[in-house]
Amino acid sequence: MLLGLKKFILGKIFKKHYYRTGNCKGCGECCTHIYVKHFKHVLKDEEEFKKLQFLFKFYSDLEIIDKDDLGLVFKCKNLDSETKKCKIHFWRPGICRRYPQEELFSMGGKLSDNCGYKMEPIYSFEEILTKEQSKRKIK
Ligand code: SF4
Ligand code: SF4
Repeated sequence: MLLGLKKFILGKIFKKHYYRTGNCKGCGECCTHIYVKHFKHVLKDEEEFKKLQFLFKFYSDLEIIDKDDLGLVFKCKNLDSETKKCKIHFWRPGICRRYPQEELFSMGGKLSDNCGYKMEPIYSFEEILTKEQSKRKIK
């Protein structure tokens, strides 16, 4: 009953595709391999990133460490490299508080293998297939 309600609220009202389960284990990996999505694109250009640093304070805390097929890869200067804890935990930005969100997948990212969170599909493949088949029958 409760699961059905949760499914309805997340799937139908908030239009989500995944449940988030699990907990943060504090490994710090998500703070050392970051992609930045600005509007609809993942940042690939260092010059664009430098300009955005003037507009968004959080970007000033990011340091470019690599570039791959997806885009620029950053690490956050606020991560304590020894303890793996966030040095500004209490004041950390909203994007960090909400992590991980399913938008991660829409930009081609994924959870780290060690992450304590899991993203589970709200609707099973069979449910989606049945829904699509019934839509076709109606037409
Ligand atoms: S502000 Fe803290 S939680 Fe957010 S990316 Fe940086 S170290 Fe991680
Ligand atoms: S990768 Fe997952 S478990 Fe590790 S710090 Fe980030 S959210 Fe927590």
